[in-house]
Amino acid sequence: KVYGGIFLYLDNRKQMNYTEENRRKTAYFARKRGNMIRVTVWNEYLHEKEEPVRHIYPNGIHGCIKEFLQTDEELVIKTATFEMPEHGLTEEVLKQTDVLIFWSHMRQNEFSDEVAARVCSHVRQGMGLVALHSAHFSKIMKGLLGTSMTLRWKHGESERVFCTAPYHPIAEGIPERFDIPKEEMYGEYFDIPKPDDVIFTGWFSCGEVFRSGCTFHSGYGKIFYFQPGHEEYPVYYIPEVQKIIKNAVHWCKPSVRKTSQLDCAEVKEVTLP
Ligand code: ZN
Repeated sequence: KVYGGIFLYLDNRKQMNYTEENRRKTAYFARKRGNMIRVTVWNEYLHEKEEPVRHIYPNGIHGCIKEFLQTDEELVIKTATFEMPEHGLTEEVLKQTDVLIFWSHMRQNEFSDEVAARVCSHVRQGMGLVALHSAHFSKIMKGLLGTSMTLRWKHGESERVFCTAPYHPIAEGIPERFDIPKEEMYGEYFDIPKPDDVIFTGWFSCGEVFRSGCTFHSGYGKIFYFQPGHEEYPVYYIPEVQKIIKNAVHWCKPSVRKTSQLDCAEVKEVTLP
């Protein structure tokens, strides 16, 4: 059983290194073309100001995410937090953002309606969104997906994450399953619209299951919701979790980016050939 575990571990590492190697090659050309992916990592950054969370993420969750994303040479990464003016998500910042990574929890209700609407509008115009953990309940996710986003939760379980769409680009290099030693349980029923893909399904030691990694579209924007990342456990240091977030940034980057709000256009005349 121990040897089996070691082989699985080595095989997983080999798979992940292989995709890292490929990405280094594409990064070279992206830099040459000036075609980098601009990422803004947004974090509420309140839990980390006190122990025990400060100890786990001394530079905040956004600092940790920025650090591991920086090994991907195709990305240009900025951060923003709740306490900045307009939460650091001004029109200018969003215009310069290809993919927004978003972690929130304590102050979701106090998050500005205006800024939430602005972010939703940019997603509909094509900006990618990676919503992490409790960000499911943010005004942004509720606004984009239109459901209650409610779920069931419980602290301190272990989670086994199964890859349930191995053909999806977000699953590239990710093993068929991996473990998170300690995580907050999120359980079904999770009130989301029917996802485009359920890429990861979490199974918790208390017996619950959850659609842990789901993709959606809103307007022209691609959205990935990923459940792992409760602030009290060092989840964002796990290599598989880091790799999934990196893959998600690549998948969520805009295919089309509109420059104005989506609107109904009147067609004046139609000329048939
Ligand atoms: Zn949590």
